[in-house]
Amino acid sequence: MPSQRQLFLNHLAQTSDAPLMLEMVSAEGINMLDAYGKSYIDLISGIGVSNIGHRHPKVVKAIKEQVDKHLHVMVYGEFVQTPQVKLATALSNSLPKNLNSVYLVNSGSEAIEGAMKLAKRFTGRSEIIACHDAYHGSSHGALSLTGSETFKRNYRPLLPGISHISFGVADDLNTITEQTAAFVVETVQGEAGVRHADQSYWKAVRKRCDETDTLLILDEIQCGFGRTGKFWAFEHYGISPDVVVSAKGMGGGMPIGCFVASKELMHVFTENPVLGHISTFGGHPVSSAAALATIDVIMEEELLTDIASKEQLFHECLTHPKIKEIRSKGLMMAVEFESYDILKPIIDKAIELGVITDWFLFDDQSMRIAPPLIITEKEIKKACNIILQAIDTV
Ligand code: PMP
Repeated sequence: MPSQRQLFLNHLAQTSDAPLMLEMVSAEGINMLDAYGKSYIDLISGIGVSNIGHRHPKVVKAIKEQVDKHLHVMVYGEFVQTPQVKLATALSNSLPKNLNSVYLVNSGSEAIEGAMKLAKRFTGRSEIIACHDAYHGSSHGALSLTGSETFKRNYRPLLPGISHISFGVADDLNTITEQTAAFVVETVQGEAGVRHADQSYWKAVRKRCDETDTLLILDEIQCGFGRTGKFWAFEHYGISPDVVVSAKGMGGGMPIGCFVASKELMHVFTENPVLGHISTFGGHPVSSAAALATIDVIMEEELLTDIASKEQLFHECLTHPKIKEIRSKGLMMAVEFESYDILKPIIDKAIELGVITDWFLFDDQSMRIAPPLIITEKEIKKACNIILQAIDTV
């Protein structure tokens, strides 16, 4: 009888030659437990998902209550489903007034696809601008936006009319013209290794998009839902987008995503042709109930009030001659080392010592740290000590 590990390798499609192959059997708060009884601190929230911790009791309760009512009853957009209505209302209430129409989908890539279609349809233009080192997803449209040739080159032809500019460089914004349907950009770049820009850049972005009637689409799939210390990361910069895109942390551990725009914009999907964007499972009732509970937890438990001090504590605890730099926006952090060859054994050692970290798709010399926002000061100190120990022992 092959082991479960062997069956994993035999029958689950692999995405790399070196999967982590940890066998988790349960997860609670910031901790995970493997099949051999070993406990781990999850310092990356399952890659930006478990912002409120694993199996938050209020999320679990909301899921169970919804399971007892109904699962899928109809494709997206036809029936009035209570969890979807409550979620869309709560999302609208968390956003500026113009962002009041929510299209629910199942994942980040799907949300990006919908937002791209919306921009093309609303503006009647086909060109889209994105950023170098941007990651927006793995489907064809989202991949076309991705700012890495390595990831794209073997999948061409991709979408035409897409060009890339440098994130945070105001001079590049002149590439946005009257032909541009949308500028799609992460408010804080994730896979680039946590890169953020200042308020003056974002004001210039907003101005250029307004001048050219280009839609500003902010990808908050990784940086939204409290990750940076504000519910939406764009709140740091005193601007607001035409479309905001969310997923990952939104479902509190369940799969869901959305793109949000004004009613006027979103109206284009209803005509010429009708059903301009369709999804069978978009806004699944159980995922919607979980997402609504997630919003409630972030707001009611005031999870965002001490994010800045927790961020500061990470900076204080992670001082070591081998650490070159720490970039962060709230609890979205990149700890940079000299090279991947130095970082990789540190990550492996930390996992052996019970702390899960990672690197980034486009920055393999930086350690990803993005713990559940509920992590305590004591837990931060413990996790940092383990990382320092890992640095010292490799
Ligand atoms: N945009 C960003 C900024 C992301 O970080 C991700 C996922 N890493 C995506 C889009 C794609 O989301 P998904 O994997 O749910 O399709």
